[in-house]
Amino acid sequence: MYVILLGPPGAGKGTQGQILAERTGLPRVATGDVIRAAMRDGTPLGKKAKEYYDQGLLVPDDVILGLIEQVLAVPKAANGVIMDGFPRTVAQAEAVDRLLRKRNAAVDHVLEFQVPRDELVRRLSSRAAAEGRVDDAPEAIAKRLEVYRKQTEPLIAFYRGRGILTVIQGTGDREMIAERVREGVGA
Ligand code: AMP
Repeated sequence: MYVILLGPPGAGKGTQGQILAERTGLPRVATGDVIRAAMRDGTPLGKKAKEYYDQGLLVPDDVILGLIEQVLAVPKAANGVIMDGFPRTVAQAEAVDRLLRKRNAAVDHVLEFQVPRDELVRRLSSRAAAEGRVDDAPEAIAKRLEVYRKQTEPLIAFYRGRGILTVIQGTGDREMIAERVREGVGA
């Protein structure tokens, strides 16, 4: 089962992705985590990503497309993946389609997490205090929300048109949200 978690930064994709991964036994793959590890290790990917990442901008597709190919190629992803933080552009979504088609698979479910903007800002600000993520600084938060609206939101219509999109109300109790997610993927 191939599941895409879609939603603005702070919507709870990481938390809910982990819960869903435990429940289904599928691996959760987060491009943001891969990029943070690459920056920490100073790899070529990390060096290319840093200037974009720090400003809250998307890392360009020519860099990310190769990364998506790599993360989907790992053996544990052979029967399904929970995709957290990608695809984030139409070009990335088309790449995911292409890569899955090669293994006779397709995206099964797209969950769109909806959380009001003031709640997102509150969550990201407290994460900045707790984890010290540079892209959770106030200017970067505003930028990331704008980038989501412009570059990633078009994917909602892209997947809705296919009939595989489910809206998840991303506010309220963690377990309640997890239950909505579970129902959304029929797990
Ligand atoms: P995240 O942890 O998913 O919020 O991602 C943090 C940052 O990593 C983003 O603001 C981007 O700079 C970069 N990033 C993560 N995933 C992607 C992606 N699929 N495409 C482009 N940039 C990404």
